[in-house]
Amino acid sequence: MLHIGNHLSCARGYEAMAKHAILLKADTFGFFTRNPRGSRVKALDMEDIEKFLHVIREQGFAPLVSHAPYTLNPCGAKEQVREFARQAMAEDLRRLEYLPGNYYNFHPGSHVGQGIETGIEKIAEVLNEVLFEGQKTRVLLETMAGKGSEVGSTFEELREILDRVALRQHMGVCLDTCHVWDAGYDIVNHLDEVLDTFDRVIGLSNLYAVHLNDSQNPMGSHKDRHAPIGEGRIGFEALSRVTNHPALRHLPFILETPHDSDEGWAGEIARLREAFQE
Ligand code: FE
Ligand code: FE
Ligand code: ZN
Repeated sequence: MLHIGNHLSCARGYEAMAKHAILLKADTFGFFTRNPRGSRVKALDMEDIEKFLHVIREQGFAPLVSHAPYTLNPCGAKEQVREFARQAMAEDLRRLEYLPGNYYNFHPGSHVGQGIETGIEKIAEVLNEVLFEGQKTRVLLETMAGKGSEVGSTFEELREILDRVALRQHMGVCLDTCHVWDAGYDIVNHLDEVLDTFDRVIGLSNLYAVHLNDSQNPMGSHKDRHAPIGEGRIGFEALSRVTNHPALRHLPFILETPHDSDEGWAGEIARLREAFQE
């Protein structure tokens, strides 16, 4: 069974997201823990969370892949920027304890001219401050496209971050197909080799989720512009090989594709399910 869903808005609460996912024939989904650009969070509605937990248990959902806001930069040059990252992550992780067993994905950050090594150290520093013993959420580093001064566009950089985290047992990686392609990993013609490299550098056992996106740009472009599945430079065939790959097929796949309406995501989910070899 393919575990797949798309990114949903949290605006109407958790139970509404789960029900929305079911309508799209999804059995997982992604969501922002707060407004992707802003910093404010609503108080948790415990009644809504109870109903939500009931729905996802009853429907046998795969782990959900929540997403930290884009504005969060644990390796910013300014202390104020890193302090926001620390506070937002700590608060998100506290809130996610009410939805145990799910994932919290974040963009490692942009070193803004300080250099990759400094970036890596600062990211690990923030993680070491916010992770806590016994937490029930796994924190995932997302593979990045390498636009601007982004850290995490090579598997080696992600490995270096992981190596510096004390509570590494609560960490993992989320592979974004658009990002790795834009970063220069040829998942169209050499998927096996890319996954072998991932395994050698990070270990496939540390891979917990996939962001499934097509890309508007050619391999190695470092652009990070997502395209609907089958409408970009990666293409449907290659993305279906990703969902069917023996090393990946058990993971939750989250679509972050641009569409104006639900039909777009429902269509992608249906098509990818159809192409999945049980
Ligand atoms: Fe992301
Ligand atoms: Fe992504
Ligand atoms: Zn992206």
